[in-house]
Amino acid sequence: MKDGDKGAVQQKDGTYAIVPHFPLGLITPADLRNVAAVAERYKVPILKITSAARLAMVGFKEEDLESAWQELNPGVGHAVGLCVRSIKACPGTTVCRLGKQDALGLGLALDERFHGFALPNKCKMGVSGCMNNCAETPIKDLGFVGKKDGWTVSVGGNAASRPQLAVELCQGLSQAESLDLAAKILHYFKENGKKSERLGRFIDRIGFDSFKAAVCPDAS
Ligand code: SF4
Repeated sequence: MKDGDKGAVQQKDGTYAIVPHFPLGLITPADLRNVAAVAERYKVPILKITSAARLAMVGFKEEDLESAWQELNPGVGHAVGLCVRSIKACPGTTVCRLGKQDALGLGLALDERFHGFALPNKCKMGVSGCMNNCAETPIKDLGFVGKKDGWTVSVGGNAASRPQLAVELCQGLSQAESLDLAAKILHYFKENGKKSERLGRFIDRIGFDSFKAAVCPDAS
């Protein structure tokens, strides 16, 4: 069984991890009770809140995967492989006194539109409600930072074996404009990136000015 089959990833001890998809890590008491019940029923030894704010359930036997998914709510997992994976967002104006923009609102809209969107390599997004960058926007492939005048968008960050800081692409965008720009960036990368190339390396290869001209030609 390869990674992603049955929504699972094999671990080094031969068991499997699954990660129910709770967008942005938002979770209710009922969700938690359901996860706990499934973990106890299948004797899952490890529950882990990951660095991407996901809830990993580690230690399933292969023969239990299908029935476990049927019992989980949500019964779908986080995307695996070369695609838009985690979308991390801070609480933004919903909760945080320092928030300048609605990070949860934009994060949920991004998740709804792009989670699992196939790409040349994995893509992580970060949405921070202000310049404090609690969603680690500078090390995300695609990042959004809330400011008084709207969203500032940055591209090309990652925290992989050769970390890169994201570069600012444009600013002052509404939520709708941010979503449109995200769509243009992802489609352009999908069509022009090489297999296994991260967005930051792709931008390095073609040049930031060429990339910017292709995805937001009207920006100054
Ligand atoms: S990035 Fe800003 S708005 Fe978001 S949690 Fe941090 S301080 Fe609050």
